[in-house]
Amino acid sequence: MYKIKLEKKCGCAKKDARTDEVLSKTFSSKEEAELEVLKFVNHANASWCKKHRFYATEEGNDMVINMELSCPNEIK
Ligand SMILES: [Zn+2]
Repeated sequence: MYKIKLEKKCGCAKKDARTDEVLSKTFSSKEEAELEVLKFVNHANASWCKKHRFYATEEGNDMVINMELSCPNEIK
């Protein structure tokens, strides 16, 4: 079983309902998880604050979304 994880939830991630939806999904194959994480990363890069970029890495059975640069909407 594969899951998508988010390294750090920035303000934008918290505002987007799609975040929790994607993070709660489980996938039976790695290909499905990869496809979903890529779609989500594209969505985040295109429609969130655009001050940071996201990219996915693989960690065991998880696809982890990493963040480059920090978010100005950061909730501390
Ligand atoms: Zn942001």
